Amino acid sequence: MTMKETGSEATFADLGLRSELLDVLSALGYEEPTPIQKAAIPPLVQGRDLLGQAATGTGKTAAFALPVLQRMLHPGDGTGPVALVLVPTRELAVQVSEAFHRYGRILGTRVLPIYGGAPIGRQLQALKRGVDVVVATPGRALDHIGRTTLNLEGLRTVVLDEADEMLDMGFADDIEAILAATPDDRQTVLFSATLPPRIDGIARRHLRDPVRIEMGHPAAEGRQATPLVEQSAYLVARAHKPAALGRLLDIEAPTAAIIFCRTREEVDQLTEAMNGRGYRAEALHGGMEQEQRDRVMSRLRAGTADLLVATDVAARGLDIEQLTHVVNYNVPSAPEAYVHRIGRVGRAGREGAALTLVEPREHRMLKAIERVTKQRIPVERLPTVADLHARRMELTRAALEECLRQDDLEPFHVVVESLADEFDLMEVALAAVKLAHESSGGALDEEEIPEVAPRTMEKRRGQREDAPEGQRYPRAPAGGMARLFFNLGRRAGIRPQDLVGAIAGESSLSGRDIGAIEIAERFSLVEVPQAAANEVIAALRQATIKGRKPIVRRERDTHGRRTR
Ligand code: AMP
Repeated sequence: MTMKETGSEATFADLGLRSELLDVLSALGYEEPTPIQKAAIPPLVQGRDLLGQAATGTGKTAAFALPVLQRMLHPGDGTGPVALVLVPTRELAVQVSEAFHRYGRILGTRVLPIYGGAPIGRQLQALKRGVDVVVATPGRALDHIGRTTLNLEGLRTVVLDEADEMLDMGFADDIEAILAATPDDRQTVLFSATLPPRIDGIARRHLRDPVRIEMGHPAAEGRQATPLVEQSAYLVARAHKPAALGRLLDIEAPTAAIIFCRTREEVDQLTEAMNGRGYRAEALHGGMEQEQRDRVMSRLRAGTADLLVATDVAARGLDIEQLTHVVNYNVPSAPEAYVHRIGRVGRAGREGAALTLVEPREHRMLKAIERVTKQRIPVERLPTVADLHARRMELTRAALEECLRQDDLEPFHVVVESLADEFDLMEVALAAVKLAHESSGGALDEEEIPEVAPRTMEKRRGQREDAPEGQRYPRAPAGGMARLFFNLGRRAGIRPQDLVGAIAGESSLSGRDIGAIEIAERFSLVEVPQAAANEVIAALRQATIKGRKPIVRRERDTHGRRTR
């Protein structure tokens, strides 16, 4: 990331945020701004336009939400919103609204998410009562603008979040129409995970002298990432992260490990969860007194604790001799933070391992880190229950071997001899191994952790290129996909973006999840992930597309299709 203007140790207070917001951030356990926040907040607070390249996981939401709240002089007063955030999906609309609510509640900020599928009546009521921030998907926003129920006269800031995905979903025209309905002197903020030429086009047309923040410039430190550290990553759904961490720790059996979390809350929760699973974990974060921190460190050095769960701030400057493993419980918010973290092992010729848990939506951030460090971080399969059994067996074997070499077995002779009268020596040995094995392991978790796939756009882009006008499609749906039939086609004025918009708006799918689309005269066919097909069908029953209620079902006729 390029951040020339701001020093790397800047605090939230240095960024010029008002005291109420500083209190909120501290209560949330945010210890310091992420790099994108350091770079974006000061110019945004000054009212500058901004073009930012930022993936999920960088802290981009707070990077635009905090300045909007900072600049909001009288929340709760006006009727029309002062900020409009456009997002590609309903899922993101809810997330971003929640973030605004979290940060802005103390100021009395009224936030309204607006997306297709939600009852419009409630949205109309809320708009009438007055709102400060609207977070909307483009289709529904345009709908309200058309009905004049969304008054944009008082708008001061427009944010386009995940702009590349909005374009991908065919929202380009909608975005242009919405921007045309906003005041000329507004502040415009555009965040996008990638910056293809089409995004540059929007930026040129709609942003005034924007500050540019880009990721992926190799940092000086990046090149020094030490090769002695063995790096690996594991894709895992959020709900399974504590189990995945436990599994990895069991397999890796670190002498001492440091586990990095984002916030104080996360540190406290994870420490508790790991202690509950039988590990000896200690928390370390910026909210602790020096004396407490010293105590934690001495427990770690003395070996009475073997896991340190910490925030970046708290771990800065620590040098722990025994450290063998660094675990990133989340993908760090910037490549530089990753490099700092993994530099804590593999020092002075010692070998170390760095493990990173990656939620599917954070996969892109992992790729950014690879680009900056110029090292591949292989995504490995999480150990299975069988792997865990095998590893525990191996540990028992190693413990027995060590015991055999130590030659202090004399006192036990009498036990074996007395048993040998009645049992075979092999059987006696087996029973002893069983006892040793069972007494060494804590409670074994036997549940498999489901595999997940990264959320990437590449797959769908490929499919779309196969079907340039939405006219050609593979004979059978792509692997793992189901093909849905819609009774609306060209004659009803249906375009691919209408279908993508409806599906992404009404269901939990994002535009990226949707596969090939074909639009025929009287009907359309759309590929969606097999697992989500029923959900999509149910969701679209309630919906309207181009003012009409669609009939949606799984495509039945897989043989003699009459599609052309
Ligand atoms: P985002 O990239 O906006 O999706 O944010 C990723 C996650 O990081 C969210 O769960 C935020 O609550 C969290 N987060 C954002 N900023 C910070 C910060 N400065 N310190 C700790 N956590 C943060």
